[in-house]
Amino acid sequence: MADASYRCVCGAPLRFKQDLEVESTTTGRRFRCRDCATPVPGIVGERLVHQHPS
Ligand SMILES: [Zn+2]
Repeated sequence: MADASYRCVCGAPLRFKQDLEVESTTTGRRFRCRDCATPVPGIVGERLVHQHPS
């Protein structure tokens, strides 16, 4: 599977867990851009949190 990547509205490329702010909720996790706190779609965030720079 190819690496997932996502470009935030602020222009930041989101590729790895550390690019995201992860918030745990009772219904699951929410993801935000670390730079601007814009919410990232959950399906994208769930993939990105499994990616780490090698
Ligand atoms: Zn952003």
